[in-house]
Amino acid sequence: MRIFALNCGSSSIKAALIETDGGSRLLEMHIENLGSADCRLLIGEEREALEPGTDAKTAIKRLIAELRSRCKDGPQAIAHRVVHGGSAFVQPTLLDDNVLSEIEALSDLAPLHNPVALAAIGFAREQVPDLPHVAVFDTAFHSTLPPRAREYALPRDVAQRFGIRRYGFHGTSHAQVTRAVAQYLKSDVQSLRIVSCHLGNGASVAAVEYGRSVETSMGMTPLEGLVMGTRSGDVDPGVLLHLLKHGGYDAESLDKLLNSDSGLKGLAGTNDLRTLEERAGDGDEASRLALTLYAHRVRKYIGAYAAVMGGVDVIAFTGGIGQHSPLMRHRILQRLDFLGARLDEDRNRDAKLAENTPVCEISDETSRARLLVVTANEEMEIALQTAALLAAGTSGTAMRIPIEISARHAHLTQATIEKLFGPGHHIQPRTQLSQPGQYAAAESVVLIGPRGRIEKVRLMGPPRKEDQVEISRSDEFVLGIDAPVRLSGDLRNTPGITLEGPAGRVTIPSGVICARRHIHMNPRDARHLGVRDHDSVQVRIDSDGRDLVFSDVVVRVSEAFELRLHLDTDEANAAGVRQGDTCELVRSPPRRA
Ligand code: ADP
Repeated sequence: MRIFALNCGSSSIKAALIETDGGSRLLEMHIENLGSADCRLLIGEEREALEPGTDAKTAIKRLIAELRSRCKDGPQAIAHRVVHGGSAFVQPTLLDDNVLSEIEALSDLAPLHNPVALAAIGFAREQVPDLPHVAVFDTAFHSTLPPRAREYALPRDVAQRFGIRRYGFHGTSHAQVTRAVAQYLKSDVQSLRIVSCHLGNGASVAAVEYGRSVETSMGMTPLEGLVMGTRSGDVDPGVLLHLLKHGGYDAESLDKLLNSDSGLKGLAGTNDLRTLEERAGDGDEASRLALTLYAHRVRKYIGAYAAVMGGVDVIAFTGGIGQHSPLMRHRILQRLDFLGARLDEDRNRDAKLAENTPVCEISDETSRARLLVVTANEEMEIALQTAALLAAGTSGTAMRIPIEISARHAHLTQATIEKLFGPGHHIQPRTQLSQPGQYAAAESVVLIGPRGRIEKVRLMGPPRKEDQVEISRSDEFVLGIDAPVRLSGDLRNTPGITLEGPAGRVTIPSGVICARRHIHMNPRDARHLGVRDHDSVQVRIDSDGRDLVFSDVVVRVSEAFELRLHLDTDEANAAGVRQGDTCELVRSPPRRA
């Protein structure tokens, strides 16, 4: 498939027409210094100065005109790199107005990057309205991070309210490195533990364990982790508080300090590694410190990520510095013998990447971990992912569905509540549930079955017209009750049970069910996901080593509903998920529940 890949940054646009079947680049174009006086168009060896101050719209128009005039077989789709997909976009996604407005809603998370990409997508859709446009997200590769790597140790409600978690970036680059490494080693990604080091102006490390990203150094924003060209990477958050309280900084000046004035530039006056290497050679102490600090930080992450994965099979370098600085690779790879990583100094010095040599090996014969240099080729990765999406005939509309796990609980009538807790008793709301008006009450009861009892079973409010007790399959064994799998409210021919409260016991004649797994959603979500009320669908859960696809999941649509998959504790444990994890709808078969 021929894909035109567009990679729009704030000051440059890289574009490539790619034949994904043979993996060849049919045309490569680059516009540098957008919006400035020396804006240029580069195509192969050709260089053309563009009108000073050329904006993104004009630039895209020009690129598409060049594409049309130079390639008689035009593209079959346009692929766009988008930096932030939030929690919602975990795979390439066909763009339409709905998806674009969802990406727009994420702009708060990536204020520097997403608005640029969105504007570019808009211009490109205007120019080429009749082809599919696909977004490929930088964060998507890291959607497999396990909760221990994904979450920060902040109060859960604060994290949830502000979307604070590790998203990770450079995903297309780490994905492409993973693919290239496996190809070079003639190995399956499933058998490799790779530490992928993307060292460009922005820099990040990822731990790719058997094909899945399990840790990465960039966090909620692309500021965390390594020392970068102008970004600080890791700093003690206390430093920021100190500067805010005592240094005369405000949010804006701190932002500039950390994003634009720190890193190599902050340490030694320039973010150009070549200049730093020259100056260090001439004895400049600031440049020497910058280089050692840079290398130390990368080495520290490599060691940490080897520990995270229980070992490392490959350490790979890409990006301007990773590919072109043997000196920096040498500094980084010192003292990693304990990981079985041994550099061959000659190979490192002579490593030359070329069109037909996209990977060079720099480890020596005795090195247990293979050390590789990989040509960055993000446009190829974007194109390959887009082609795979289109070939599969899906939209990839990967709207993530948050998961809620229901422990055993009971919905009771006011009459039953009064028998258990005393006349006139009203249950007290303790926590609001995601579905509007529903709450977990402060009160709990004891369930008593023919075989055993279960204490502290939470009541849900408000009171209902019929008594209903929801238990898991495991609970059935404890209680000695055989409950059918039912949707809430469907209580025909269900067994009863005895309930015990502080004021007495009640035996209800029926009402015990094992809840059928279901998804609540409003009509807009249903339209977006292409499902209707009462459809039976499948959802895929990617978890830490316990991925699972659940079938027989019933869709419940109501204007009042919040989008949530409800599972019971047995189901959640089987899939290794926790409250707040998300899943994806994979198929909506025509069968109705
Ligand atoms: P970006 O993240 O903006 O795409 P690059 O991947 O082009 O950045 O990396 C830019 C960095 O690579 C700069 O620090 C530059 O000095 C460094 N670099 C490029 N070529 C060389 C080289 N031959 N030797 C050392 N450093 C290099």
